[in-house]
Parts: sequence; C-alpha cells; structure tokens
Amino acid sequence: MRIDKLLANMGYGSRKEVKQLLKKGAVSQNETVVKDGKQQVDPEKDVITIFEEQVIYKPFVYFMLHKPSGVITATEDSRETTVIDLLEPDDLVLNPFPVGRLDKDTEGLLLITNDGKLAHQLLSPKKNVGKTYYAEIEGEVTEADIQDFAVGVTLDDGYLTKPAELEIITSGEQSKIHVTITEGKFHQVKRMFEAVDKSVLYLKRISMGEWKLDEALEKGEYRELTDEELSYLS
Ligand code: URA
Repeated sequence: MRIDKLLANMGYGSRKEVKQLLKKGAVSQNETVVKDGKQQVDPEKDVITIFEEQVIYKPFVYFMLHKPSGVITATEDSRETTVIDLLEPDDLVLNPFPVGRLDKDTEGLLLITNDGKLAHQLLSPKKNVGKTYYAEIEGEVTEADIQDFAVGVTLDDGYLTKPAELEIITSGEQSKIHVTITEGKFHQVKRMFEAVDKSVLYLKRISMGEWKLDEALEKGEYRELTDEELSYLS
C-alpha cells in the first residue's frame, strides 16, 4: 500500500501532514529515505521509521461509509456489489469487514473495520448500543405506536423486542420518524413497523452509539474515522 496512506491510517497525521513529514526526509523504508507518498510499502515486512523511530505497525483500520441503497452488506458476492467493493484497493489490504448489517435497500452509517473487538462491542445486545434510524413510513404513526415501541413489540416470529424509542417527526398518510433500537434482529425496524400494521418506505441509519453519519459524505463515499471518533473506542 502507499506509504502516505499507511502513516495516515496509523495516526501520524492527515495525508497533508504526512506529506510534509515525507518532504522533510523524516521517513525511511528499510533505511532508505522516502519522499514520495505514492511509494509502495509492505507494512508487514518493511521497516519504516520516522525520525529514526521505528513505526510500530498497528494493524487496525476504521472507516465510516455512507452506504447507498442497492449494495449488499457483505465482504464478497459473485453477483451483487458489496460495501467492500466501494473501498479503494489500498484500503482493502488489512481485510476490513462491515460492522453489522444493513439491508440492501437501507442507506446510511456503516462502520467498516478489521477490529473484531469493536465489532463485538457495538453489536452485542448486552452492550445496549443504540442505533438510530430515520425512516419514512406508509401510514400514520401515532402516540400508541410510541407506547408500543417503548415496551417492545412482538415480531412475526413471536420475538418480543427490547424497548425502542420512537420519535415522530411528521405524521400523516406518510410519516417521518426516528427510531432507536439496541438490537439487530434481521430486518428489525421493518418488522417492528409491520407489528403495528405499517410499512417502511425508506430507511437510513444515522447513528450507532456515539458515531454519527457524517452528512458531508455523499452516498457511496467513505472516510477514515477522525481522532475524536476513534476516542469513542476506549
Ligand atoms: N432494520 C431493518 O429493517 N433494516 C435494516 O437495514 C436495519 C435495521
């Protein structure tokens, strides 16, 4: 992968700051000074130093993707485009995978990492991490639905969901809502609305724990997590 990318991924600064380090002659690969950010390096094999200090390779990457509709949440598929297909080749070197699953037609926040511990922390129902969705609903969402969601609703397979927080943005023939759930059952939000005789027309995840979808990301775009977002990990 490119040396500027590797160093930026590892927290040695933004791409611009890393470029300055390279320009200064501060970076070496196997004892040869590297000034070109495009220089290819093998993080597992090459000895990379900054100001003669060896860079200890931290093998984790964290990305935030604005998932578009029409791609599946998987690492590979013979027919469909996957969320991993949206990443640049350099970002695939460390084998990242999506944290949890959004349906093919669901948009919004998807974290992609190779940090299994983070994935577990965010997905374990015991950790109660809230996932908030914006949704457009066919039908009038009412106070009664808020009460039902607050105690949990029974899905088509008999499962009683944990309490969920439903907030009405606008209500009418079609309604707009926010809903926060702490579990991740298959098609959970859609099935919760089916349980109250309504259907989801559009679904977008806007946050997961402390991570909020960066609205500056266009659908299909992604970026590395910022230092502040990384600090939510600890
Ligand atoms: N609930 C759903 O029904 N679909 C998703 O993609 C996520 C939550």
